[in-house]
Amino acid sequence: MRIVFLGTAAAVSTPSRDNTSLLVNDFLIDCSGNLFGKMKKVGYDPLKLQGIIITHGHVDHIYGLPSLIEMLRLSGRRDPLKIYVGRHFYELTEVYLEMHGLLYQEKGFEIELRAVNYEKQLLINDSKISIETFPVKHSVPNIGLKIRSNGVTVIYTSDTELCEDMIDLFNDVDLLIHESTCSYLYSKKTEGHTCAEDAARFAQLSNAKVLCLVHIGPEIDGNETKLINELKQYFLGKILIPNDLDRIVL
Ligand SMILES: [Zn+2]
Ligand SMILES: [Zn+2]
Repeated sequence: MRIVFLGTAAAVSTPSRDNTSLLVNDFLIDCSGNLFGKMKKVGYDPLKLQGIIITHGHVDHIYGLPSLIEMLRLSGRRDPLKIYVGRHFYELTEVYLEMHGLLYQEKGFEIELRAVNYEKQLLINDSKISIETFPVKHSVPNIGLKIRSNGVTVIYTSDTELCEDMIDLFNDVDLLIHESTCSYLYSKKTEGHTCAEDAARFAQLSNAKVLCLVHIGPEIDGNETKLINELKQYFLGKILIPNDLDRIVL
């Protein structure tokens, strides 16, 4: 499995971090910033995208979608593209894309917009990758993703409070990509989100092999090394705070 961190910031970006978005094999998860350009920059051909998953409708997770679709169209994509979006935001996404004349284009490619329920659901399951959704605890309905490929299991929490009552789902994952909007070192806990220290305790409880923090709040940006050292008292495995455009191959 190849994961590229196209963005790693929380809702407020910084000079070095754009809003969080991941490229996992040929699937894009959340959609902000100049994703077309970033995929090119890391050597990935955006025309190869098989699907896009929007975890929820907060602006930092969806605002890049119209421009990405337009860039794919202008670059000659003709294959249909599946876009998965939480049921709560399905109509909003439909309106958002149609506002820009992107949903029912005569020229271009077909967009298959699919509504996702807020329950455990096997979204994608082919010979190379499976992606399962599960509900998380945000200020709006939201999904996390459990991704399996090549014998490894990865969880991406998207935006959420700690999911302590779902720890069985998180047990023994190879890589836990947890949001970390705040840290008690630098700020108060943000409603609907997780502080880095709690994510690290949870990673230890769930026996994750590696903890990777994304959706990094602006107070954390620039203090990553100090924070990782702090978190070592809570989590004994490897801790990563990736920079934008970093990649992990598992
Ligand atoms: Zn967010
Ligand atoms: Zn959010």
